[in-house]
This record gives sequence, C-alpha cells and structure tokens, in this order.
Amino acid sequence: MRHLIVGAGPAGVTAAEVLRRVDPTGSVTIIGDEPEPPYSRMAIPYFLDDKIEEEGTYLRKTADYFDKRSIQVMQGRVTRMDLAAQATVLEDGSTLEYDRMLVATGSHPIIPNISGAELPGVHACWTLADARQIAERAVPGAKTVLIGAGFIGSIILEALAMRGTKLTVLELGDRMVPRMMNERAGNLIRKWCESKGVDVRVSTEVTEIRERGKNKLHVILSDGQPIDADLVISAVGVRPNVGFLEGTGVEVRTGVVVNEFLQSSVENIYAAGDVAEGRDFSTGGYAVHAVQPTAADHGRMAALNMAGLSAPYQGSLLMNVLDTLGLISASFGQWMGVENGDAAEALEPESYRYLSLQFDGDVLVGANSLGHTEHIGVLRGLIQGRVALGSWKDKLLRNPTRIMEAYLAREKLTA
Ligand SMILES: Cc1cc2nc3c(=O)[nH]c(=O)nc-3n(C[C@H](O)[C@H](O)[C@H](O)COP(=O)(O)OP(=O)(O)OC[C@H]3O[C@@H](n4cnc5c(N)ncnc54)[C@H](O)[C@@H]3O)c2cc1C
Repeated sequence: MRHLIVGAGPAGVTAAEVLRRVDPTGSVTIIGDEPEPPYSRMAIPYFLDDKIEEEGTYLRKTADYFDKRSIQVMQGRVTRMDLAAQATVLEDGSTLEYDRMLVATGSHPIIPNISGAELPGVHACWTLADARQIAERAVPGAKTVLIGAGFIGSIILEALAMRGTKLTVLELGDRMVPRMMNERAGNLIRKWCESKGVDVRVSTEVTEIRERGKNKLHVILSDGQPIDADLVISAVGVRPNVGFLEGTGVEVRTGVVVNEFLQSSVENIYAAGDVAEGRDFSTGGYAVHAVQPTAADHGRMAALNMAGLSAPYQGSLLMNVLDTLGLISASFGQWMGVENGDAAEALEPESYRYLSLQFDGDVLVGANSLGHTEHIGVLRGLIQGRVALGSWKDKLLRNPTRIMEAYLAREKLTA
C-alpha cells in the first residue's frame, strides 16, 4: 500500500507516524513545500521571543528521525491531481503515485484587501520565513502595528511586546478575540493588554498602508488617521490550501469536507488538520477548527482509517487556549450559548478573573475562562464527556467557580 501525505505539518507528521505503526510494510511518503524540516507553527512565538532557536520549532528533533522509521520526507509543491492515474503532479512536472492519499496542506493567511498590503515591511506571521523577516524589523522601540486581534494575532502579540516593540493593535470587531471570547472576556483581555502598555483599538478599520520613506509606513484608518509603523503584521484570518484539488470532484466548502472516517468525497483521498472541514463535536455539523490539537487528532484518525481499520472520529471540540502577556484565557465548544440553554458567570475584574459557563439541559456545552488556569482540564473533561451534572447544575448556576467540585462529585458518582 502506497500512502502519500501532502503537507508536512502536525497533521501530516502525526498521520505518517501512526501509519508506520499500524501498517509496517506499506510505504509512507510525506511531501511538503517548505524548505525546513517539519516544524510547528505554534512554536513560532517562542522563536520570536528568543526562547528557542529555529531547531526548537521542529516537530521531531533528530535528523534521522524519519529515515529510522522508513518515512520518506520530500520537498516539493503539489500543483494538481491526476485522479485517473492516482497521482499528484508537482510544480516541476514530476508525479507521485498513491493508493491512499492524505490532504494535510493546512491553511494560508488571508492578505487584507487594501492598498499597500504587499509593501515591504508588511508581513503575515505564519511561516518560519515570515518569522525571520519579522525578527529583523521587530527591534526594541520599533513601531509595530498588528492588524487583527483574533486567535493568532493575540498569540503573537506577546512575542512582539516582549521584543520591546512599541505595539498598536487594531481590531475590526468590538473586542479582542471576538470569535473566541464573549464581550466581557474580550474587553478584559484588552484592558489587561492596555495595562501592559499596548495600544489596543477595537471597532477600528484599516483602509490603506502607505510608504512614507525608507522602511517607514503609515497605516491609514477609516477616519483618515495615520499611524506610524516600522513594521506591520497582518493577522486577519486564514483559508485552507485547497487550490490543487480543483476539478477533482473532491468536495470543498470552506475546507475539504470529510466524514467521520476523515475520508473526502473521493474514496481513497482523506483530509486532516486546518485544511479539513470535519465533524464538530459540539454541534454535530461540519467545521474547520484550525488549531493544532485538532490537526493531531485528525492526523491520527485519518491514518487509522487509511490503514483499513474502521475508526470513527467523535468530532473535534473547539478549544482555544491563549497566553496574552501572561493572562491565560480559554474558550471551549459553544461558548456563546445555545438556544434555550442556561448560563452562569463569575467576574472579578480587579484580578482579571472571569468564568462563563453555558449549559444545554444539565450538560456543560461551552465556556469562556480568564485567569482560571486550574479549571481548563476540568472544563474540557465535562464538555467532552457530556457529563450529566444533575443537582450540580443549580449549584454552578449560583457559583460557577465550584466547577472543580462538580467534576469530582460526578466522577465519584460514576466510578
Ligand atoms: C504563529 C502561530 C501560532 C500558533 N499558535 C497556536 C497555538 O498556540 N495553539 C494551537 O492550537 N494552534 C496554534 N496555531 C495554529 C496551528 O499552528 C495550526 O492549526 C496547525 O499548524 C495546523 O496543522 P496542519 O498540519 O493542518 O497545517 P500546517 O501546519 O499549516 O502544515 C501544512 C503544510 O503543508 C504545506 N503545503 C501546503 N500546500 C501544499 C502543497 N500544495 N504541496 C505541498 N505542501 C503543501 C504547507 O506549506 C505546510 O508546511 C498557530 C499558528 C501560528 C501561525
């Protein structure tokens, strides 16, 4: 059996390792288009913050790791597919044949649709190549404008601040991380960042970026106001890398649509990670969950199914954990609540602690938390376990911070 994995990120690498384990005799090939050994984008902020060298971002640390496991890692870009020949076509015209293929091509950053978005000094922060360029300009005192305070923007914010840049954050939504945090939580994160000297402007639209001399930029806002910048980082969202699948019949909505076996609409083509639109644990619908835990889960489950073991996937739980200048926040599942559901919240604004719980019946289905690091595992466990809270639901409605007690009490009951 020839297994071909397109994309050398966490989804692809996890899939290759699992395939090797469950199919010792088949061939396993990973092809990725970046020049570095497989690495983790998640580690880029630590590289920018000088906590690790480039090598520290590599997913597997020894040079012969893949060779030793008879996993072939190739560099090249797949540009199209030849479904009839069961082959991928690479940029240089060569082909790679497969019996089963995994699309693990991840996503790419969206370039904002404004004039000046392509100017030197304007970067996404997505690849190691981006990070190297950012590191060159993000020197102490450099005026840095970060466009977008979503999940990725809020993650890199810390590294930019730690490098000593003078940071302005511009967010179109009315709060920070608006697709992950409710109003109270998003506003508290903003206040926290401001207290650390970051200039955060929400409900703010950028209309243009202009050059104003050597290595100097102006970011123009919709009210005409210019902001000086030595470096502009754009973090306005990502889109799955699906271009090479055009014309294949592989169903793509936002990402490659996959069933519970991570299989696409073409029988021997699977998809995993940021590129896949798979089952959402909370809603039962389909969603792209562009986070690393989902990439690893998808990779593992796709590999089992590619190897012929029928292993249905329960769906990915939307879960984001953020460290913003030392303030830990997390969002889980249906954090925005469900129809006819109940909600409870506990707020301690002076200590930047906040907890919001969302229930469907007596089951916890979503949460936002700020400064409550001890609860993260418990929240996930209760949501993923679909634990019936019984009488504990009312106690939590009165005081959500008793969540750990509720977890332990329910555990005891089911033990
Ligand atoms: C700065 C930053 C910080 C992050 N922090 C976190 C975090 O704290 N927590 C978290 O959960 N997630 C985080 N993420 C998101 C996380 O990195 C992604 O969800 C994860 O990398 C997805 O893994 P993947 O394997 O699906 O895709 P990727 O890691 O993107 O890997 C896909 C690979 O496929 C390659 N490829 C694409 N097209 C082709 C082609 N046609 N031919 C060959 N190769 C191709 C790509 O170049 C890439 O190397 C962060 C992302 C960034 C950028």
